[in-house]
Amino acid sequence: MIPGPTPVHERVLRALAQPTVSHQFPAFVEAYTECLSRWRTIGQSTSAQPFVVSGSGTFAMEMALVNLVAPGERLLVVSHGFFGDRWEQIAAAFGIECDLLRADWGQAVPNEKLAARLGTREYSAVAVTHVDTSTGTEAPVASYAALLESRKEHFILDGVCATAGIDERFDDWHLDVLLTGAQKAFGAPPGVAIQLVSQRALETRRKKRGPVSAYNADWLRWLPIMNDPSKYFSTPPVNQVFALNEAMGMVLEEGLPARLARHRELAASMREGLAAAGLELFTDASCRADTLSVVLHREGVDDASFRAAMAERGVVVAGALGPIAGKAFRVGHMGNIGPAEIERTLEALRGALGGS
Ligand SMILES: *Cc1c(COP(=O)(O)O)cnc(C)c1O
Repeated sequence: MIPGPTPVHERVLRALAQPTVSHQFPAFVEAYTECLSRWRTIGQSTSAQPFVVSGSGTFAMEMALVNLVAPGERLLVVSHGFFGDRWEQIAAAFGIECDLLRADWGQAVPNEKLAARLGTREYSAVAVTHVDTSTGTEAPVASYAALLESRKEHFILDGVCATAGIDERFDDWHLDVLLTGAQKAFGAPPGVAIQLVSQRALETRRKKRGPVSAYNADWLRWLPIMNDPSKYFSTPPVNQVFALNEAMGMVLEEGLPARLARHRELAASMREGLAAAGLELFTDASCRADTLSVVLHREGVDDASFRAAMAERGVVVAGALGPIAGKAFRVGHMGNIGPAEIERTLEALRGALGGS
């Protein structure tokens, strides 16, 4: 029950376990093509360019940034915690200037603050973490989007803890990059970096940027393969793509609206159960994400012993990060989680806290 990697469905494991074939074998080329097309559907876009390559969520962040923002240009990050702050480190590694607009942990940066900041400086892009997995904060992305829609700054959304569990509308929100990994709300094994890129962003990459400070992470090297997966640039993660394609197929079988509603309901029952057990959430009620809960420990509870007691009862939850490490724990409820897992987690929790 950690916020990623999340449990992988047997159907996806079976797809992963099929014999490894050539990356140019027709059945693989077909699966890769289907996976790219399904991804665009899930991101609610008709015109964005999908990229699915080997890597983690962090690699997808890096890939987005090096292609879109040149060294010496400036990035604005709306940070709601640990993963928001990570953008600053990636920017620093490539000589990209970076300003952080930070919320107190557990709060969200109000739209007005972003609006006020935008006018003050020249930014090439704005990066927002949809759900920061360290704080459980869901950013008010729809209102940021309304603000950024008519502006020239590119809009990068880190969906790693949101995509396929929380509504994301690439076209309606005029996003330039939506990125995620396979191992969170898709419920696929880790190892695949997933992006949707707007035509405007590709245009920026082609026109404005000279060579980028990357080789394997260059959109333009991968673009021919994304448009015709029978071509070769660097061997794709064949079995991971089979698995991700199956996971994406399951998302579409369930249907996006039903899947998002399931995540809302699971989050509500988790919160209800936590409250009944006398626990409080860390995240402000105005910005709680449906994909995970960040839960404050009661006075006097030792975090490591609590999590060990949970593990003894067959449930793994995650520790908290940064300033709340030791004071809170995190429980994921995304991907293939259902009511049975929520119930089992709450039962283990009552046992671990009650000592039974
Ligand atoms: C997990 C996570 C990442 C990092 O993904 P990795 O695959 O671990 O590199 C980035 N952003 C958010 C919001 C995450 O939850």
